[in-house]
Amino acid sequence: METLQTPDTRPPFAGLNGQTPEALFGSLPTPCYILDEAALRRNGEVLAGVAARTGCKILLAQKAFSNYNLYPVLAPYLAGTEASGLYEARLGAEEMPGKEIHVFCGAYSHREFPELLRYADHIVFNSPGQLAAFGPAARNAGKSIGLRINPECSTQEGHAIYDPCAPGSRLGTTRRQWDTHMTPELIDLLDGLHFHTLCEQDADALDVTLHALGERFGDIFPRMKWLNFGGGHHITRPGYDIPRLERCIRLAQQTWHVQVYLEPGEACALNAGYLASRVLDILQNSETSIAILDASAACHMPDVLEMPYQPPLYGAETTGLSHRFRLGGPTCLAGDVIGDYSFSAPLKLNDLLLFGDMAIYTTCKNNTFNGMPLPSIFVLHENGQLECLRSFGYEAFKSRLGQ
Ligand SMILES: *Cc1c(COP(=O)(O)O)cnc(C)c1O
Repeated sequence: METLQTPDTRPPFAGLNGQTPEALFGSLPTPCYILDEAALRRNGEVLAGVAARTGCKILLAQKAFSNYNLYPVLAPYLAGTEASGLYEARLGAEEMPGKEIHVFCGAYSHREFPELLRYADHIVFNSPGQLAAFGPAARNAGKSIGLRINPECSTQEGHAIYDPCAPGSRLGTTRRQWDTHMTPELIDLLDGLHFHTLCEQDADALDVTLHALGERFGDIFPRMKWLNFGGGHHITRPGYDIPRLERCIRLAQQTWHVQVYLEPGEACALNAGYLASRVLDILQNSETSIAILDASAACHMPDVLEMPYQPPLYGAETTGLSHRFRLGGPTCLAGDVIGDYSFSAPLKLNDLLLFGDMAIYTTCKNNTFNGMPLPSIFVLHENGQLECLRSFGYEAFKSRLGQ
């Protein structure tokens, strides 16, 4: 039975083309993720437009989205991939072959670095110490070498754990550290600089950041071949100020004569997936009506708790409609709550609930806490067909824990 009759055509659900979740996905086992191929391509087209108009190069930050079966959809629009370490670099090399592979890691280890040299083209270090330890080997291997800098310019409020410019941050070299530790030999190793300070932000925050960077590092940029603007640019979000982004890119190119890179994760796969789940139980404690789902915030959408945020839900509002429910997962964690939503009709057992914007930081970040099963991963192809990419059983839980 379908509770939610009104078609929801807002951005996260545009891919349903006016059909209800039950009509489209009712036959799938829940919980499951559904990746939306057409939405990925639309994101790719937007990003490729920015690259074509400005000459910047755009990379997929794989930590947000690494469902490599869909890399061929994005690859024509991108210059390559960005990795957070060895395994993502290898994945990029294997699954987006022939494209650039960039890597940034907070610290590289001597055990992993030789193998990393096999995959990465651009290697970005976090500190002068790491540059000194690994830069010469990277140079000998013919790599393009970068250092992450910290402009000490916070442009976000409320998400301190996502602010690399917060006081005491370990991410990126500040100008004071640069002046203390960057010897002429170390500076000679560098081909480029990298910053990553934004999170789900518009181009105004980039503008502010570029001015701070110009003040602190403007004398150094002209000696570099490239400048990597990192991720956090919400370029594919409806209403994002793309012309302002392009002005920022052109300003950097013209002022400092650098090749500009962007490496968005979210923007590549924004609004390009769903998490389908069903209502297992409905109960009432005190004033609050509660529905327990077969999907868990803690296991299957960890950023809901970590960031935190409340994900969009098909046919529901955060407030305003007459029937309010708190939605939670089946785990033992008291805080395994997805959020409070309002509906136009009461929820019933087995109702299908469809969360939007679930392609990013989900399939590559989920876990089996409490022995929760991992959701299957489906693809909604552009021709309307649904394909199961992967399903998981008991082995996916057990195999990580012993022999
Ligand atoms: C997280 C991260 C990205 C991608 O960030 P999004 O917010 O997903 O766009 C890019 N580069 C680096 C270095 C990152 O840490």
